[in-house]
Amino acid sequence: MDIQYLKGIGEKRARLFHKLGLFRVEDVTVFYPRAYEDRTKIVPIRELLAGEAACFKATVASPVTGAHIRKGLDLYKTKVFDETGELQLTFFNAPYVKQALKQGETYVFFGKHDGNRGMINPIFEKEAGGTTGRIVPVYRATAGLSQGMLRNASRQVLEKLEPDETLPEEVRQRYTLCTARFALENIHFPQTEELLSVARKRLVFEELLLLQLGLAVRRGKLVKTPGPRFEKVGLEEFYAALPFEPTEAQLSAIKDIVNDCMAEPGARRPAAARLIQGDVGCGKTVVAAAAAYIAFRNGFQTALMAPTEILAEQHARSLTTLFTPLGLCVGLLTGRTKKSLDGLANGSVDLAIGTHALISETVTFAKLGLVITDEQHRFGVEQRTKLFAKGQEPHRLVMSATPIPRTLARILYGDLDVTVMRGLPPGRTPVKTYVVDEDYRPRIEAFVRKTVADGGQVYIVCPVIEENEELGLQSADAYAEQIKADVYPDLRVGLLHGKVKAKEREAVMRAFTAGEIDILVATTVIEVGVDVPNASLMVIENAERFGLSQLHQLRGRVGRGQRESHCVLFMQNDSAKERLEVLRKENDGFAVAEADLRLRGPGDFFGSRQHGLPEFKIADLSNDMDILQASREAAEALFPSYHEHIALKTAVEALLHRIEGGD
Ligand code: ADP
Ligand code: MG
Repeated sequence: MDIQYLKGIGEKRARLFHKLGLFRVEDVTVFYPRAYEDRTKIVPIRELLAGEAACFKATVASPVTGAHIRKGLDLYKTKVFDETGELQLTFFNAPYVKQALKQGETYVFFGKHDGNRGMINPIFEKEAGGTTGRIVPVYRATAGLSQGMLRNASRQVLEKLEPDETLPEEVRQRYTLCTARFALENIHFPQTEELLSVARKRLVFEELLLLQLGLAVRRGKLVKTPGPRFEKVGLEEFYAALPFEPTEAQLSAIKDIVNDCMAEPGARRPAAARLIQGDVGCGKTVVAAAAAYIAFRNGFQTALMAPTEILAEQHARSLTTLFTPLGLCVGLLTGRTKKSLDGLANGSVDLAIGTHALISETVTFAKLGLVITDEQHRFGVEQRTKLFAKGQEPHRLVMSATPIPRTLARILYGDLDVTVMRGLPPGRTPVKTYVVDEDYRPRIEAFVRKTVADGGQVYIVCPVIEENEELGLQSADAYAEQIKADVYPDLRVGLLHGKVKAKEREAVMRAFTAGEIDILVATTVIEVGVDVPNASLMVIENAERFGLSQLHQLRGRVGRGQRESHCVLFMQNDSAKERLEVLRKENDGFAVAEADLRLRGPGDFFGSRQHGLPEFKIADLSNDMDILQASREAAEALFPSYHEHIALKTAVEALLHRIEGGD
């Protein structure tokens, strides 16, 4: 039903509703208020406070008088009173109040007391219960469309429309959820705070349930297409080539992958899709390498996509060393190294490592059987899909160090199997973290020198490349030049940021890895994946400008070798202290992520759209974890028979349409 069907909405006003994404009457029901105003309390006039909005009940003392002040400004005034006092009311350009407010009659008003001038433009009604004396919804509005119009629309819709009940009776009973009708009425016009939360619980549950069912359905579809056939291969040779013993976590992740991809001779099975999640430094690269080795031994190529050139180059270096003796040929493909193209197309390269250059149109593979994305949260859904499309339903492996709390990972990556790697390789000592201000600079400088004197290496990270005098921020280049010249003229200082030419960047990285550079001044380009075990001190400038999870990732660059490692967080103002203290106390990425989620909310935490799911209309993952759990359980139980509930099936299909239609 078109929104113009509602009273008070003509063609012109409908266009304003369209701006808010409201086209059909049904859209209005799920246009949930963004906030509520509690107007339940009716206070005596004497207790009205200047600057505060409140409701009061009063009688009109005198007829409304109108005065023309100047062109475009007419004032209408009257006085009202109750047992405790009287109040002057002023309305701008509102001739209708002359009729609407009658001398001697009593009304309920709502407005903000303006001190000396009484009250300007209060709203009023004869009996409380419409816009006064109750909890009133506040909607996201747009210029020209008032709260009143939005409320009016949702009130009409609630009267006219009978909402579909998507939740089967037994689910509602089991989880004590109210009906759709009750929920919608009380989410828009809650009678009490309690009923509002009853309504909200039901709607959050429904939203999360639909999403999880939708993802399960989507996954069911994917699973129908068989993946490349891998048969069992011994990994002994591979393990023997590693410079260390694999950890338990690595072995068990590799086992998950083997189980995913293996098929009995002659049989075919669906392509694997697995997320390997593990804290920075837990050794995910080995897991990826094992998977690539299996693909190679089965005659398939692997593509490994990394988000930065630095990381791709580093993977190429270390995996070439590992794989060359095993007869597996590694090729590197980034924005500037187009040379290995032929090897991919003719099949002589077994493992292609690269940036998103891998997904450019001209790249073709002879026999791509496995696609790995490293630090997958850095890529959009589209990029991942494009790489995937280069093969015939290749197996998929995605690796992420963004330590998403497990429950959340399950839902966000509902169409992936999840392996969580716990713990770090042996011999690591936790990184000691300090939160300091400028007073500590001399001490920290001494500490940097001592670290270098002891044969260690240091990262210094600055948040911006662009200089910004207002914020007192230095560009990374200027800052690096300065510490090189003024602070550590005797030490070897290298520079790494997005604007350093790729060739030079690789040279710097190589020199740092080889221990030919003592201090690496860098921007967050080193955030993901860079691995130099000899580096044991990380100094982060303007730490308050980073998110906690990002700082944790940065910190993960140290503590990778045998040296005791330290991380110093410089902050320019104390306001960030509480947040940064989380890092001092916590070394576990999952715990940091949970704190981050709590402090910042999920919107910020995940950045926009990176998980490829629709925005939540009402669920708030930082607060709704229990409902998430419950809805997960319900989704699992419902999945086999959900299509028998017509309303539920329709809703799931609509959601899938939305996810896949990409709107
Ligand atoms: P991430 O999970 O962050 O990608 P990496 O794969 O880069 O971690 O590994 C971090 C460091 O740990 C590397 O220096 C790697 O060589 C080392 N490492 C990985 N696995 C082991 C292991 N089983 N024993 C000892 N060191 C390991
Ligand atoms: Mg890594």
